[in-house]
Amino acid sequence: MPQQSPFQIDIPATDVLTYLFPPNTTPSNKPIYIDAVEPDKKSLSPKQLLQWVKRLGLGLQRLGLRQREVVMLYSSNHIFVPVAYLGVAGSGHVFSGCSPAYGVAETVYQIENTGAQAILVDPDHLKVVLAAAQKCNFPKDRIFLFSDTPCETTQGIRDWRTMLADPSDAELWDWEHMNADQSRTTTAVLNYSSGTTGLPKGVMISHQNIIANVEQSVYMRNLESPVPLTHTHHTTDERWLGFLPLYHAYGQLWSIVAAAKTLTPCFYMRSFSYPAWLSHIQNHRITHIQTAPPILVMLAKRPETRKYDLSSLRNILCGAAPLSKELQNEVSGLWNGTLKVVQTWGMTEVTCSCLHVPGHRDDRSGSVGYIDPNAQIKLIDDEGREVGPGERGEIHVKGPNICLGYWRNEKATNEVFDEEGFLKTGDVAIRNEEGLYWIVDRKKELIKVKGFQVAPAELEAVLLENEDVADAAVVALQLEHEELPRAYVVLKDAAKGSVTEDDIRKWMNERVAKHKQLLGGVKFIDEVPKSPSGKIQRKVMRDWAARDAKEM
Ligand code: AMP
Repeated sequence: MPQQSPFQIDIPATDVLTYLFPPNTTPSNKPIYIDAVEPDKKSLSPKQLLQWVKRLGLGLQRLGLRQREVVMLYSSNHIFVPVAYLGVAGSGHVFSGCSPAYGVAETVYQIENTGAQAILVDPDHLKVVLAAAQKCNFPKDRIFLFSDTPCETTQGIRDWRTMLADPSDAELWDWEHMNADQSRTTTAVLNYSSGTTGLPKGVMISHQNIIANVEQSVYMRNLESPVPLTHTHHTTDERWLGFLPLYHAYGQLWSIVAAAKTLTPCFYMRSFSYPAWLSHIQNHRITHIQTAPPILVMLAKRPETRKYDLSSLRNILCGAAPLSKELQNEVSGLWNGTLKVVQTWGMTEVTCSCLHVPGHRDDRSGSVGYIDPNAQIKLIDDEGREVGPGERGEIHVKGPNICLGYWRNEKATNEVFDEEGFLKTGDVAIRNEEGLYWIVDRKKELIKVKGFQVAPAELEAVLLENEDVADAAVVALQLEHEELPRAYVVLKDAAKGSVTEDDIRKWMNERVAKHKQLLGGVKFIDEVPKSPSGKIQRKVMRDWAARDAKEM
């Protein structure tokens, strides 16, 4: 029997804009998105947000975009990113964020895979987007500069403000308020994930998925001091830091939607540097952080940590990659127990999260928590049997936050759900009698580098483009607090003796985003181990990487 969440909540069944701006309510004037560097000059309140969102929504319609067509964003974090996210999704289109670390080939892939009809690009990244657009014949008049300050037309590319509707027209415009059925079946966002196998795919996140996961996550975060979320004008004394990338589900959920729903000031960082991050916590008296294990490593190990006054911090929510209980306890210890470090587990396909340790619990066990409200989990062993407490099994999950499937990819969609409609996650967990879960293994191909996804299949495809490479397989090299992509490469005979492992590593560096570089090293081998059907034997490769890690 699947295990049901011990918690049940009411989840509003509508579209994301109606959720944030219910009819007959007046949006607040209090800033929620605030630039961390220039807080007095750059901020947006819900009232301003709604005006911009309406201007963009109507602007996109006038541009000729049809309903459910995709708008892609290629940008660093800034306070207008939520306008793009909510303006695109709220006006019945589909938002898809692209990592600003992407190179030309990765960007072409996402433009083509989404079938994007318009692109918003941060001026700092125009060069990559223009090169990508040229490669895939994307029209220049559908590309717009997207910054938090107005921009001059550059290389024929206009500022996004030129496409917006006038404030007076926008004021009269209304979006499509969705009923429960539409909310459940309408894709709002496409976030990219390789899932359990293969290349990155567009994960279809519905309006209902977003609303459900915000309600579930904030409920769990507040558990033991419940705050009703459904009241729009509820205010908190919390202050958050918006540094997680907003093209990823984790940043979107907290820094965009949950901040707007709970009216929590969220201070946006354009890019991450550890000293700047520490100084923003100190100067803006940040109370809650949503983050991933690499930041906890920095907190525990880097000497700068002690140079700042971080006493305002009350809660760190940590997810996106494995966190050891030793590191969890080391960080909690820095605050003499006044800071709670709680874990969450999730993946792009569950919108963001599906297990949480209650936010007010002093957890020292390394657990990722209880099942979120209204969701259910089965743990399935290698023989396909459901297992009970104390036994290892792959997490299969069902709930209102589980994605609709993969964009234009029926095969991958069919493969990721089991016969009872549960999502197969590729993560292996154990639960105890009380219903707490621990992640103990990952049986899918995915590698997580500093919390970012790296799909081995993607790196293998790039390696095979190298004229000296006959075959290649990429796996994770597991180190104490991190994992790194490591390639096992078979050279063509002609290249043997002249091409070095370092040559291959450098060649890759020029072609992939930084987090995908082969920092786990390259090793030449005679043959990639494969099954009779030609599939790479990833288990064998993982054993090789484990052996190599010991020797390093
Ligand atoms: P993403 O889709 O980028 O959010 O990555 C999801 C994957 O990150 C999961 O399938 C896990 O493999 C890993 N992950 C997320 N949270 C945790 C956690 N708390 N502990 C261990 N692994 C995690």
